[in-house]
Amino acid sequence: MDTGAGADGADGMDGLARQQEVLPGLLATLPDSYGKEPMPPHMLDYPLLLSTLYERAVRIYPHQEIVSVNPDGSVHRTDYGETDLRIRKLVSALAGLGIEPGDPVGTLAFNTHRHHEVYWATANTGRICHTVNIRLFPEQIRYIVDHARDRVVFVERSQLPTVEPLAADLPGVANWVLMDCEPSETSLPGAIGYEDLIADAAPAGEWPQLDERSPHMYCYTSGTTGNPKGVAYTQRSTYLHTLTAIAYRPVGPPDNVMPVVPMFHAAAWGLPFTGTAAGAKLTYPGEDLSAVALVDLIEGEQVTFSAGVPTVWLAIQHYLDANPDRDTSSIHSFLCGGSAVPRAMIDWFWRNRGIRVVHAWGMTETNPLATMANLRPEMESWDWERQLDFLETQGLPAPGLRVKIVDDEGEELPHDGEAFGELLIQGPWIAAEYLRDPRSAETMVDGWLRTGDVCKITPEGYVRITDRSKDVIKSGGEWISSIDVENVIMGHPKVTEAAVVGLAHPKWQERPVALVVVQAGVQVTGEDMASYLSGKVARWWLPDEYVFVDEVPKTSTGKFDKKVIRDAYSDLLQR
Ligand code: AMP
Repeated sequence: MDTGAGADGADGMDGLARQQEVLPGLLATLPDSYGKEPMPPHMLDYPLLLSTLYERAVRIYPHQEIVSVNPDGSVHRTDYGETDLRIRKLVSALAGLGIEPGDPVGTLAFNTHRHHEVYWATANTGRICHTVNIRLFPEQIRYIVDHARDRVVFVERSQLPTVEPLAADLPGVANWVLMDCEPSETSLPGAIGYEDLIADAAPAGEWPQLDERSPHMYCYTSGTTGNPKGVAYTQRSTYLHTLTAIAYRPVGPPDNVMPVVPMFHAAAWGLPFTGTAAGAKLTYPGEDLSAVALVDLIEGEQVTFSAGVPTVWLAIQHYLDANPDRDTSSIHSFLCGGSAVPRAMIDWFWRNRGIRVVHAWGMTETNPLATMANLRPEMESWDWERQLDFLETQGLPAPGLRVKIVDDEGEELPHDGEAFGELLIQGPWIAAEYLRDPRSAETMVDGWLRTGDVCKITPEGYVRITDRSKDVIKSGGEWISSIDVENVIMGHPKVTEAAVVGLAHPKWQERPVALVVVQAGVQVTGEDMASYLSGKVARWWLPDEYVFVDEVPKTSTGKFDKKVIRDAYSDLLQR
């Protein structure tokens, strides 16, 4: 198995040595005698394996539903029990293709029941699901399929135009498994239909006892510069993330979980694992992520919990504004993150729909949820506006994780809600390295992950992101938070999206400029925006220009692409 993870010594001592190597200083206060004697077992050294969570859920809730939307819009219905049989057949079929435990399996797919099957067939058996972000440039897709060493790739029909021209440059891929079409529809070599692949396969039996440190998933970051970097999620890291996520934002068998965030972006924030382990109904929305399609699903399937980036929910907000009769009463809350969530959106969903927007922060490197804006008990009785001051932050670190902020010299800064610096994080589901990538040394330092996010931490422990370090605006030597300004602009009732960037300025070094999208058919001027913002942000934070556009450029994961914006408008203030 080429995983980079060594075998653990039976007495746990190898584990300690490894821990000290990865986390220098963590054990510094222990006496010399500590760890010299072999540790007795005390408790079963039972590995943290995803198959244990899976097996329990299937045994107890075999009739729990899994709903998935097909490309033609029809709905596929199945349940945990039926899916279990298909997953077991898929395991044998993968073995038949020569894919053994430790081998990666690529996917280029939306959120569907078949993608769910690949997730679990790999996780339960030590194979590695490598979810390829279908929105990356073709060259990046070629790079990561090659870098991950995928030998089989599962692909949907909608992705054929992207992968067919790449196939000749991916000689390592022996088979392409077509998830929703037939081999006759493609020129891909070694193409096999998914249903044909599993049709006659014998269902696999017991799940193997794996090393809990072995990977079950590769996720690549979607960095705007350089090649994407791979992160290997281990059994242990996802197991601990799953249980913590269930406890911290409770979901259970009465829930219907709809992951809108793609399964190719940081494992859909873990929802396929969390939802399954919790025994919840799962609703996979497939390809159509339009507001109307998602509201159809919420209403028709009675979705109770979901997760997605702000742009998805902003579109839903505007759709519901125009269609007030649509029923969203089933959904109690959704996770929102990936980029900063506007305060006005949290406010709108609560006041108009009784839905709690749970602001969360994470990265591909944090497998992926790390902070969540839950209220502390004493805040429950506060008035709504005061609660919003905390609900709009990126939230409290999840139990098990440690965070700190540091200045440019690496000195720790106080958690006083004023000082801001780079956020560093460590814990059992935080990446220790990038997969076969020398860039690890820049990001993983002394057992801490450098997030590249500039943050404050309040005395109550809430993390508030000011900016990506490369997006912070420096005007006349003072910092301006682009996120804070965007947040206020997006509170304007006629604005649907706003991105603020710093552009070069002859006098002030940089000044903020806002790209603004307004609702269709509505007229808003720069003066309107300036007077709306006046009094809401410091005067010198007011953007120098408002550029009205039809759409803000976005990255492959739906974030505002500030690099593209800066490049496109680089001369705007140079007059
Ligand atoms: P990715 O690895 O693609 O998920 O990107 C991770 C980055 O997205 C983080 O380092 C942040 O810069 C940004 N991000 C994620 N969640 C949030 C959030 N709630 N608010 C602001 N930025 C966020």
